[in-house]
Order: sequence, then structure tokens, then C-alpha cells
Amino acid sequence: MSSEASQRTDRLKVMVSGALGRMGSTTCKAVAADAELVLTGAVDPAFGAHGAGVQTDLGVGYRVPSYASIEAALTNAEADVVVDFSTPDAVKQNTRLCIQHRVAVVVGTTGLSPGDLAELDRLSGEAGVPVLVAPNFAMGAVLMMQFAEMAAKHLKACEIVELHHDAKLDAPSGTARLTRLRIEDSWREDGLEKEVPIHSVRLPGLVAHQEVIFGGMGETLTIRHDSLNRESFMPGVVLAVKRVRDLQGLVVGLENIL
Ligand code: NAP
Repeated sequence: MSSEASQRTDRLKVMVSGALGRMGSTTCKAVAADAELVLTGAVDPAFGAHGAGVQTDLGVGYRVPSYASIEAALTNAEADVVVDFSTPDAVKQNTRLCIQHRVAVVVGTTGLSPGDLAELDRLSGEAGVPVLVAPNFAMGAVLMMQFAEMAAKHLKACEIVELHHDAKLDAPSGTARLTRLRIEDSWREDGLEKEVPIHSVRLPGLVAHQEVIFGGMGETLTIRHDSLNRESFMPGVVLAVKRVRDLQGLVVGLENIL
């Protein structure tokens, strides 16, 4: 830890995985800007060239030890919470390693399958290490999913259109998949077994957007959410960092800590 950061001993120690990515770099700034948090490590494969633990200027106001892997970071630096915004290929193993090192995890990376979640649920429960997986940290997106669940009680036909920037690696988005699950669960409670189709759009210029369109007799209802920039996710990320250690086992969805 840099000398300035190491003086902040009363603060919750946070590491960010995927720190050089779009979401990770925004998260590093949000953590460093919060009076209750201190950034104790940044993880990204590109840091490998510098060697483990090099104090790095990430533009957050103080220098931060950087590591090429979660394993190296957790072996060499202290953390109370790890936030993962890496890739669909890396997130499961990163989360496993955090659980092994007994550090609570906030997972923002999307692309975890139901099987992956079941395995992480088991590991987190066995180790007693809380894990919060939130496919969307924007408050408006959480409300969109809740409104969709309400609408599903009354309208029994629905399709989802999710639209994201063209560098997004997974499709359909984690938000669309969670929204679909909530709607299908609600329908199932009413005795209806039916799938919600998802349409994925990938275009430059977009950030993260979703429309949930219900159709009824002579009417449609559209619930739309737009994240216009990555700062839109930060209040939810910071809240998750502060609350994750109060959870038990694996919890999916930001609404569980609101
Ligand atoms: P990105 O810009 O591609 O950033 C991902 C970063 O992770 C890259 O720097 C990548 O390095 C790095 N990385 C690769 N393997 C890693 C590993 N094993 N350990 C640590 N870091 C590793 O992607 P992004 O746009 O920030 O999105 C990241 C994830 O967040 C995606 O899954 C996206 O869908 C999700 N997301 C979630 C929310 C939410 O609210 N939950 C919102 C937006 C996005 P390389 O480039 O060298 O591979």
C-alpha cells in the first residue's frame, strides 16, 4: 500500500479486479473517492509486465499496488472486499480464489451460468464467505426488474430487448437474463410455463439499455432503462462493497441489500 493509503487504517480495504477495464477503472475512482473506503490493490493481467505490487498511478489521488492476478494480490496485500469487473472467462475462478482466501466478493462481471452460480453458492456457503452477484448496479435497472415482476402478475406475454456497446463479450446480458428469470418465476407461480424471448443489440455509441415489452389485449406496456455512462453504476457498487460482509452465502441481485 502507498504510504498515504496505508494511513487510512480505519477504512474498509477494497481490491478491484479488472482495474484497467471500463468498469474496473471507474470503480477504482469511486472507491478512492469514498471516505469510508481505501483501495489496497488493483488487479489486471496487463500489470504483469511491472511485477507484483508495484505502486501504480491509476489517477485516483494516491498510488495503488498493482498485480497481474487475484492470487498474487490476495497473497501480498490486505483486502476486506474484492470487486470483480473482469471477463466472463475469468470471473468464476477469481471468485473461487477470493472465497479460498476468505475475502468477501462483489461480482459485477456478467456471464455466470446457473451452474456457475450453483457452484459458487456451495463454495461460499461451505466457507462462510459472502458473495454478492449483481448483473446491474444501477438503481433504475433494479426498479425496472421490480416493475417487470409486478407487470408479469397481470400481463402474460413479454419480450426483452437489451442493447449494449459493441465491445460487450456476453449475450444476452446478465440483466436481461435476471429480468427473464423474475418474469418466468412470477408466471410459474400463476401456473404458466412460458419463455420470455430476449433480443440482443450490440452497437457503438450504446452503453447499457433495456426494454421490457409486455403485450395485452389491445395494449402494450414498455418499461425502459438507460445507463448513459458508467458512473450510473457506482452508487450501487459502493453500497454493495459496504454491505456485502453482512450477507450470508451467495446472494444474487442488488435489491437484496437496498
Ligand atoms: P473491459 O473493459 O473489457 O474490462 C475487463 C478487464 O478485465 C480488462 O482490463 C481485462 O484485461 C481484465 N481481465 C481479464 N482477465 C482478468 C483476470 N483473470 N483477472 C482480472 N482482470 C482480468 O470490460 P467492462 O466493460 O469493464 O466490463 C466488465 C464486466 O462487467 C463485463 O462482464 C460486463 O458485462 C460487466 N458489467 C456489469 C455491470 C453491472 O452493473 N454489474 C455494468 C457494466 C458492465 P484484458 O483486456 O487484458 O483481457
